[in-house]
Amino acid sequence: MKARAATRPARRPNRAVRRRVRATAECVCAVVAALLLGVSAAPAGQGGSGLIVNVTHRARALHPGEIVVLNVRTSEAPAALGATAFGAEIRFFPAGPANVWSALIGIDLEVEPGEHAVAVRATGVDGSLSETDYTLAVEPKQFATRRLRVEPRYVDPPPEVVERILRERDQQAALFPVSTAVRYWRGGFLRPVPGRANSAFGRRSVFNGQPRSPHSGADFRAGTGTPIKAPNDGVVVLATDLYFSGNVVIIDHGWGLYSYFAHLSAIDVAEGDRVRKGMVVGKVGATGRVTGAHLHWTVRLNDARVDPLSLLELFPAGGGR
Ligand SMILES: [Zn+2]
Repeated sequence: MKARAATRPARRPNRAVRRRVRATAECVCAVVAALLLGVSAAPAGQGGSGLIVNVTHRARALHPGEIVVLNVRTSEAPAALGATAFGAEIRFFPAGPANVWSALIGIDLEVEPGEHAVAVRATGVDGSLSETDYTLAVEPKQFATRRLRVEPRYVDPPPEVVERILRERDQQAALFPVSTAVRYWRGGFLRPVPGRANSAFGRRSVFNGQPRSPHSGADFRAGTGTPIKAPNDGVVVLATDLYFSGNVVIIDHGWGLYSYFAHLSAIDVAEGDRVRKGMVVGKVGATGRVTGAHLHWTVRLNDARVDPLSLLELFPAGGGR
């Protein structure tokens, strides 16, 4: 890996050790290849006191709307490990080998391209703090525009539903920034329906000639009545009928990760239900603002709108941990 690392030794023993590592797009493939081979792709940190912390990442691409897996290897078991990325606190889980940890970072659909710092903090058992600044160089991505025809009431809603629309918007806006302290999800994520995704995430949407917010999910081909499986464990935090999304089920997978299924013909769970990976949570339908039956799946990670397909690719079904 050709990550450029500039290491500044600590001025005094037990002072915080701060290192900077810049991850550029050209190094991503090398990182992925190295990880596939099971080889450490990280340059070793040098000098200073405290833990030696190596940071790498794994992603399909560093684009808006992608999930990034941050991998941290420490020279010894840390007493505490944390990070901040895109204004959110990131939690780490053991990645298998001793002293290797992973965390998920979501690059929101509308993040400005450019360099974004991830601050990694590792505290040694002796209390020393090692701080590493890892830079994600987010590259621009041009999303296509899709033009759709829907019922006029979904483009110019009648006055009597405006209050409902605003209430539902606020309800959802309050939900996704909540990062539940429990991580329910484990291992790989299941495809909720067998069909392929047929509408690209992130497309700018024009309904009946009027621009609307970008498409923040993936649409899967599936007929009405197709069972929808929970992609991973979690707790149902919303199971109701919304004006634009129709019948929805939202699963909190923990640690800021949510699955949002829309346009269902039937809801098979209730708010507060604990769901297991593979459990049927509802049936595909054509409720709300749609052109026909399909499954819409939105994934939110620390409030960032990310492509569900990046989650499926980074954590395929059958994967461990
Ligand atoms: Zn959709």
